[in-house]
Amino acid sequence: MPYRIPSDEDIAKAVTSCINEYGIINSQRKLGELVRQRIKDIQNDYSVSDRRVRMVAIAKNLVDLELKYKEGGEGKLPHKCPICGSKLKRLKNMTIYGGTVTLGYSCSNCRYWTGLRKNIPSRYVFASRH
Ligand SMILES: [Zn+2]
Repeated sequence: MPYRIPSDEDIAKAVTSCINEYGIINSQRKLGELVRQRIKDIQNDYSVSDRRVRMVAIAKNLVDLELKYKEGGEGKLPHKCPICGSKLKRLKNMTIYGGTVTLGYSCSNCRYWTGLRKNIPSRYVFASRH
């Protein structure tokens, strides 16, 4: 039997319960593991990927997120946030000539940002918002 996919609400409940218990969870994999345990308590054949847990936690504003990056070098910058899938806003600065120059991009929803040398998220720290 394949695993069934829990709803966003079930994931959100599990994330909130884990973060309230631990305060800080310092990797995406750890958060995923903890959430899967909780979700199995609700429904035995539920499973969910680390990535989906992260997306729900961020999209629903359940956690305070701290990101560590490694620099990915030149290359195509993402159009959408690699973390939560939201639109990226251009970060601009005025030049002395009155024009603007693009410094990079930041997410409109979470804390992801990147300069023109692409930042690749390498580690997530999830903390309680309280
Ligand atoms: Zn984002």
